[in-house]
Amino acid sequence: MQRIPLIAGNWKMYTSLAEARALAGAVVSACKGLSDREVMIAPPFTALATVAEVVKGSQVRLAAQNVCWEEQGAFTGEIAPGMLRELGCSMAIVGHSERRQIFGENDALINQRVAGALRFGITPILCFGETLAEREGGQTMAVLERQVRAGLAGISVGEPASMVLAYEPVWAIGTGKTATEEQAQEAHEFVRNLLLSMYEKSIARQMRILYGGSVNSGNVDALLRQPDIDGALVGGASLKADSFERIIHFRQ
Ligand code: PEP
Repeated sequence: MQRIPLIAGNWKMYTSLAEARALAGAVVSACKGLSDREVMIAPPFTALATVAEVVKGSQVRLAAQNVCWEEQGAFTGEIAPGMLRELGCSMAIVGHSERRQIFGENDALINQRVAGALRFGITPILCFGETLAEREGGQTMAVLERQVRAGLAGISVGEPASMVLAYEPVWAIGTGKTATEEQAQEAHEFVRNLLLSMYEKSIARQMRILYGGSVNSGNVDALLRQPDIDGALVGGASLKADSFERIIHFRQ
């Protein structure tokens, strides 16, 4: 069975409500007639309800950029998974490097978010990746192994589609520097083998591993041609309707 490629747009802290409505509308149009790939967008929390109306009835999936693990309670600034479900979200980005680096989220906290999302039927997209110093210090695979093992600690995956991973080398995010196809494939293959050692083989083979880090309309085809790259997590280029449309229409 083939893994269905997933193209995911992370809008970060951008878009007014009017911009979000227009961009989501363009993504819905761009997806018409596509049945061999999945597309997801993650607007800021403030635009989720607006974008939910636009994507309703389309094949575009709605995601949050983070998710809490508790059902409710005194967690100022957090959003519960059930609240996201109510808005029509079926996925959530977890452990993005901006959360790790700017907001100090660590592997243990990220693991709680993964578990919480799954408990409430939200598919987490668990992000991990090395910094430039770690790559230059020959630590890349050790860092990936630590982040993936810790992020998935105690997590059982019964259905491969319910869990997505995203390799995002920190030095490639928002910098215009993309990992080469070979660098990305090497990391993805390493993580695939790690998953094979952690989960039942038929499940690990089906779990999608996205690549993220300055993906654009010019490099998406080559990246997605790699055997273990199952989609893209796209930041900057997902904010421009024309470039995201070309990424959605990647050619393998
Ligand atoms: C991201 O935000 O996950 C990302 C990969 O950003 P960019 O595509 O801008 O590098």
